[in-house]
Amino acid sequence: MKRISILGSTGSIGTQTLDIVRLNNDVKVEALTAHKNIDLLEKQIREFHPRVAAIWEESDAKLLCERIKDTDTKVYFGMEGLIKAATVKEADIVVTAVVGMIGIEPTVAAINAKKDIALANKETLVCAGHIIMPLAKKTGINIYPVDSEHSAIFQCLDKHNPIKKILLTASGGPFRGYTKEDLQKVTLEDALKHPNWSMGKKITIDSATMVNKGLEIIEASHLFDVDIDDIEVVIQKESIIHSMVEFMDNGIIAQLGTPDMRLPISYALFYPERRYISDERVDFASLATLNFSKPDLDVFEGLKLAMLAGKRGGSAPTVLNAANEWAVAKFLEKKIRFTDIPYLIGKALDAHEFTKNPSISDILSLKKWTEEYLERIKI
Ligand code: NDP
Ligand code: MG
Repeated sequence: MKRISILGSTGSIGTQTLDIVRLNNDVKVEALTAHKNIDLLEKQIREFHPRVAAIWEESDAKLLCERIKDTDTKVYFGMEGLIKAATVKEADIVVTAVVGMIGIEPTVAAINAKKDIALANKETLVCAGHIIMPLAKKTGINIYPVDSEHSAIFQCLDKHNPIKKILLTASGGPFRGYTKEDLQKVTLEDALKHPNWSMGKKITIDSATMVNKGLEIIEASHLFDVDIDDIEVVIQKESIIHSMVEFMDNGIIAQLGTPDMRLPISYALFYPERRYISDERVDFASLATLNFSKPDLDVFEGLKLAMLAGKRGGSAPTVLNAANEWAVAKFLEKKIRFTDIPYLIGKALDAHEFTKNPSISDILSLKKWTEEYLERIKI
């Protein structure tokens, strides 16, 4: 029996993780958490009977407690609640499917409690990869990537041969082929229409700015111990090739599949087993062609900034990520324009005081500094 805890069970990755649980009768859900979606969390508790549930606000936790008093689930709130869910004694593996830097502390707690991690929350490794990866090694736990590109790379690894290059694929998002002028005019509604993937709002905007690919470069460099310079972004319009690994003889291994996050989720949960997901297969005859191109770093400035921040390391990826989280939230509230997102990231990166080896508490302070700094910027 596989025992799992899901941080962010009401989101896109969280609900698809529960779809995988429904397909398998040897998985038991031990913990579920949400931010605000109390109705869906209640439904999930009634279906999966976890020991622990957590919701962010204390008032929501009280309400939830009242609603589910006929069940055995214990309800917690705040960061303490997330950490409780991440460290619940009975769980073997924690699916980190919350969005943003809120995922850092519970992930560290889960690793310290010797839980394996099915890692969806990329912001955690982007900011704290230099702490998380050595900690995982020290405690002997496994980090299984859920992000589709990283799962693809993981599936392409060859234990007999080192990686020469990672070819990280990207769909290019809804604005692939746009000029700088075109980007000035895009709306929130345009940015929320991803051509191939259905995901949470924050990552959908990150895909439109291509900051997502920048975060993934940094995530991959930590997960696979590869230099940022050895990670190349390849636009693969159809999202059929999920990433590739090149070896010393220039041979390349790729992982292909339909754009369906349930594959990487299932692979992370049941590794090394591959289990049934659905009847939907890649149909090469109707696909006919696969298209490849290079990203335009002058148009997608956020990707360029992320590559530079990744190369610089230290505090730079945290400031990049915190500025991006802040700016995307404002864009989702229609308070800033699409092109303000990379502009604000650049401003915060330029203004911040660089440090080489930030601790978890430094990372959380840098987040606060970045938010306060950006509040003062007039655009
Ligand atoms: P969603 O916005 O769909 O879901 C986020 C989840 O986190 C929700 O369950 C939300 O609860 C919960 N949450 C947010 N804040 C808190 C909090 N403070 N306490 C407890 N729970 C919280 O995001 P996605 O599922 O799209 O993405 C999750 C992570 O996975 C991100 O880091 C993303 O980059 C990464 N990822 C996602 C992919 C995808 O296909 N969606 C692909 C690859 C990576 P509520 O519903 O109540 O708001
Ligand atoms: Mg991805």
